[in-house]
Amino acid sequence: MVYPKYSFIVPIYNEEKTIPEMYRRISAVMEQLDDSVELILVNDGSRDSSLKLMRNLHQSDPRVCYLSLARNFGHQIAVTAGLNFARGQVIVILDADLQDPPELIPDMIQKWRQGYQVVYAVRTQRHKESWFKRFTAYLFYRLLKRLADVDIPNDSGDFCLLDRQVVDVLNSMPERNRYLRGLRSWVGFQQTFIRFEREPRFAGDVKYTFSKSLALAVNGLVSFSKLPLRISTYIGLLAALTAILMGFLVLYWRIFVPHSPLTGFTIILVAIFFIGAVQLLCVGILGEYVGRIYEEAKGRPLYTLGEVGGFSVTGKQLEAGFKSLSENPR
Ligand code: UDP
Ligand code: MG
Repeated sequence: MVYPKYSFIVPIYNEEKTIPEMYRRISAVMEQLDDSVELILVNDGSRDSSLKLMRNLHQSDPRVCYLSLARNFGHQIAVTAGLNFARGQVIVILDADLQDPPELIPDMIQKWRQGYQVVYAVRTQRHKESWFKRFTAYLFYRLLKRLADVDIPNDSGDFCLLDRQVVDVLNSMPERNRYLRGLRSWVGFQQTFIRFEREPRFAGDVKYTFSKSLALAVNGLVSFSKLPLRISTYIGLLAALTAILMGFLVLYWRIFVPHSPLTGFTIILVAIFFIGAVQLLCVGILGEYVGRIYEEAKGRPLYTLGEVGGFSVTGKQLEAGFKSLSENPR
């Protein structure tokens, strides 16, 4: 069987309003390319008519394939499912809402021809995104840069091109907490970037709610840095030092300032609250890591598949999702 040269992966969660325009713009790009393309639409448990639209596209255009996850597993897992199934030599990941302009793909492919195996897109500007989102994103990327063990580039999203070799490595990684931007940096290889201005969403609402974005951010930090654990040790040390200092202070006041109000009830209360807060914080940080160990230890499949179109998958695979990522259907 001949496999397409290019695979485009588009995660979709309630995007019925954007799908027709997304397909129109992506297929215009597909026409320009020198070789065969497959467009993999991954339905991440949409509750609108997205899946129906995807089925129709698959019927009318054989280049379109789709995977439908059995529920909403989140953007990163949807993309992971797409990566597991992609058959091309060159794989491109882009959002359905056209915030990642498909017209950039030929430029990315150009870079790939020059020998780069990872080409990621860096946002120079974000149009019409709330100041809150821009501000928190700005802070997060800078914080991640300081804390992470690998060099994760600032303001790079999931929009990228990956060579087959890179995707094979990503697919063989068993971890469940998939912060793809981090993993993409972690694998190494020849990497480069192109810059682009992030357009406003074409239609529909933002699917990354604040809590989803926060979860992604914590995931990124915890998956790529052990520094928070160390920070909790430092805070603990600092608290111990403060306690010793306070001990001496109280002693001093007792002896030399007999009626100081600071020696009584207040200081005890403050100290109790302070120590309590420090302990809870440290347990919380520890919990983030322990929780992840628990998640990994359970070894559940990353996702379950409800339906596929355009891929040959056995019924057993459908039932089990993909337990082992190395079971690449290629
Ligand atoms: N998405 C998804 N599952 C989710 C949330 C989002 O597959 O649980 C998809 C969504 O359909 C879109 C992409 O991920 O194609 C990015 O989502 P969105 O535009 O809402 O996020 P933002 O652009 O604000 O990062
Ligand atoms: Mg978007």
